[in-house]
Amino acid sequence: MHVEALRSGQDRELHRQLLNDPDVKRVNEEIARHEARGNLGVRRQLLNTSVRLSETMAPDLHRTAAECRERLALDIPLELYVFPSPSFNAACVKPEAGRLFIMFSSSILEAFSAPEIRFVMGHELGHHLFHHHDIPIGFVLRGQQRPTPKLALTLTSWSRYAEISADRTGAYCARDIEAVAHALFKLASGLSGGYAKFSLADFLKQVDEMQLERADPGDGAPTEDWFLTHPFSPLRVKPLALFDQSVLSKNTGTSVDQLELGVHELMSLMEPSHLEARTNVAEAMRRLLFAGSIAIADAYSGIEAAEVAAFEKFFGSRAFSSRLDVEKIRSGLAERITQVREQTSVPQRMQVLRDLIVIARSDGSPPDAERKVLIEIAHGLGVSTCFVDQMINTSTELD
Ligand SMILES: [Zn+2]
Repeated sequence: MHVEALRSGQDRELHRQLLNDPDVKRVNEEIARHEARGNLGVRRQLLNTSVRLSETMAPDLHRTAAECRERLALDIPLELYVFPSPSFNAACVKPEAGRLFIMFSSSILEAFSAPEIRFVMGHELGHHLFHHHDIPIGFVLRGQQRPTPKLALTLTSWSRYAEISADRTGAYCARDIEAVAHALFKLASGLSGGYAKFSLADFLKQVDEMQLERADPGDGAPTEDWFLTHPFSPLRVKPLALFDQSVLSKNTGTSVDQLELGVHELMSLMEPSHLEARTNVAEAMRRLLFAGSIAIADAYSGIEAAEVAAFEKFFGSRAFSSRLDVEKIRSGLAERITQVREQTSVPQRMQVLRDLIVIARSDGSPPDAERKVLIEIAHGLGVSTCFVDQMINTSTELD
């Protein structure tokens, strides 16, 4: 498998968008000018502040590095450093003079097992492989010129998906999902000794509770979460569990589309909901959800009480009125589908479709007439129609 396959689709898409953003371009040009005047001297700085771990000093760590390099088909030579710190941390910076530097805090090297270190090192190498350092997120967010709120949101959203890509690379190197989860538990809790007994099932349960804490499907995450660049550790383990169950990890796993949607849903715990966001994309998604749910509800035996209730769960109470011109809404549906298709990413389209299916299922399994409308919408959105059947037949219980 080519490593690029490990990359999250949203990471790839937002990365491309951001590289073309005028503000990001301006900052990158400034950095390039700075580098042209003599490089930023990362290595010099590292040699002054950290200890370089030679092969003689840390043979195990070098063996781990060799394993990761082979697994990822990485050519560039690595230099490994350790710096004194009680918090578990590791980092990787833009290569200099054809060498890549990875640094570890002293505590992470002492507290993490070999497969856990493989995960951490693979994670850092993932950032390098997917050119994440080409987006100068720190400079843009903390620079003198404040970014627009939209750019700030895109950057932080991208950053979370970039972490997903890096985590997958780490898991691909570790080849041990239990060890990966244990590493994330150590990172989140700060515990590493015998104080707590790790339970993957209980750790995952915390994420399910985070999902349940959202009272309504339309509720977005609290605003401050939108600007977190790293997903909270329990929230990182769930996408990895999905990754572990996918074709990227095993031949008989779930499809990449299913994986991407699952990740998107989890990440949306930290995103402004499309029902509340005031952007053109959100508006287009909302308009399609509105018209689509009416067309579906009307497709079989008119619009019933349960359908009105499900509809209002998304759009607010009294959003449904008997004065709505169902015929007109029905005929405008195609245009709304086109709008969404033109403005959104595939996971976003899948999200609207998923929401429509939730509404359609509110009064039991949707009859054929309703399913036909869903298939029509899926077709218009360019989403596989298998997805509709999968979602119709999927249990709504959280697993
Ligand atoms: Zn990272």
